[in-house]
Amino acid sequence: MTKGHATSNRRDVVVIGAGASGLACAIAAARAGRQVVVLEAAREPGRSIRVTGDGRCNIANAGTQAQVYRNAAFVGRAFDACAPEEALDFLRSTGIVMREEGQGRLYPQANKAASVVDALLWAARRAGVRIACGRRVERVAPQQNCWRVECADGQALVARVAVICAGGALPAGMLPPRVPVLPARPVLGPLACDGAPRQWDKLRAKCALSCGGFREEGEATFRTYGVSGIAAFNLSRVARPGDEIAIDFLPELDLAATRDFLASRLATLAPCTWGEFCCGMLLPLIGRETISRAGLDPRAAAAPAGLAVFGRMLRAFPLTVTGIGDASRCQVHRGGIDVAAVDPASMQVAAPGRLFACGEALDVDAPCGGFNLHWAWTSGLIAGKAVAQR
Ligand SMILES: Cc1cc2nc3c(=O)[nH]c(=O)nc-3n(C[C@H](O)[C@H](O)[C@H](O)COP(=O)(O)OP(=O)(O)OC[C@H]3O[C@@H](n4cnc5c(N)ncnc54)[C@H](O)[C@@H]3O)c2cc1C
Repeated sequence: MTKGHATSNRRDVVVIGAGASGLACAIAAARAGRQVVVLEAAREPGRSIRVTGDGRCNIANAGTQAQVYRNAAFVGRAFDACAPEEALDFLRSTGIVMREEGQGRLYPQANKAASVVDALLWAARRAGVRIACGRRVERVAPQQNCWRVECADGQALVARVAVICAGGALPAGMLPPRVPVLPARPVLGPLACDGAPRQWDKLRAKCALSCGGFREEGEATFRTYGVSGIAAFNLSRVARPGDEIAIDFLPELDLAATRDFLASRLATLAPCTWGEFCCGMLLPLIGRETISRAGLDPRAAAAPAGLAVFGRMLRAFPLTVTGIGDASRCQVHRGGIDVAAVDPASMQVAAPGRLFACGEALDVDAPCGGFNLHWAWTSGLIAGKAVAQR
């Protein structure tokens, strides 16, 4: 017995983490007849679910497909084992009623993340799952064909099967050294950028953000550190420090239409200053900054000669990415257990013994839209069913 760890209890299946994937896995394994105990570090289970979707929980996406995910080939093979619709059937089986908003985004009928947690916990209770809260797991180590799971409180369990469902920031040294773990970094959050005008702080504007092959329309919120909003969150998955973002304040027009639109607007409004030219088209702070970044004077008379340079700035206002603007607002971690070491049909990790992993603990992430939770349910179900056969 490891020094400092006083007790040793034998268990069938230990699931580490009572978040989305852990609850799905535990319920599936218990429904298949296994004795399951879930060890949860927090004081209550499901806290990570409660904060999702601004407290409403964008629970899944009706149009989920493997291509939206990092490590799409791995996710595709997982969806062969458990089709995206099966995850929705699982949620319905717990009593959750879903309704669809735009772009396939599914929300609970009650419009509250708490209702999702309540239903999952009730399903877990009915299936006979035991959840032990305030049990932070520090180490999972092989012990005679089983897994020894050591907690920060000095307690230890020995289980035939261990399932890692502890989310995206796995503590260093938690897993056996043979399990390949890629360094984790937060993504799907606000971007820090150079070039964001300070006076735009907290300003919201409809626009499109582009960077390389990425382009997404949405509402951006400008901050002193950079830019936030769903399009910025999604861009944070692909943009790297040093990349240039182009902000398009007329996203619904193509370039030729922009030229025609600005020329006919000037013909209608002239004589006017550049500042007046923007009035009614752009928020004043955005208008003023765009004019001066185009090298024009807001008080000077707007003239056809300035339209091309002004139009270019309006369609591609540049910011340079420096990193993540606020890591505490990131929704997922990139990195974690390398999927190359995981069987997508079972979520079993290539290690001696029966070790499984699912959810964000794996190096899988996706844009906003319910895809990340959809992955958590799906991978949890795959692991839960596989565990039941081992
Ligand atoms: C603010 C916010 C909003 C989000 N909104 C959405 C959304 O609307 N839709 C969507 O699809 N995705 C959303 N996500 C992402 C989504 O929450 C995650 O992808 C998903 O919860 C991952 O599931 P998981 O089971 O892997 O991890 P989690 O749900 O994070 O669960 C991990 C659990 O393990 C516990 N734990 C951690 N370490 C230990 C340890 N050492 N020992 C024991 N227990 C441990 C944690 O306390 C937690 O309960 C959001 C994320 C955030 C942060």
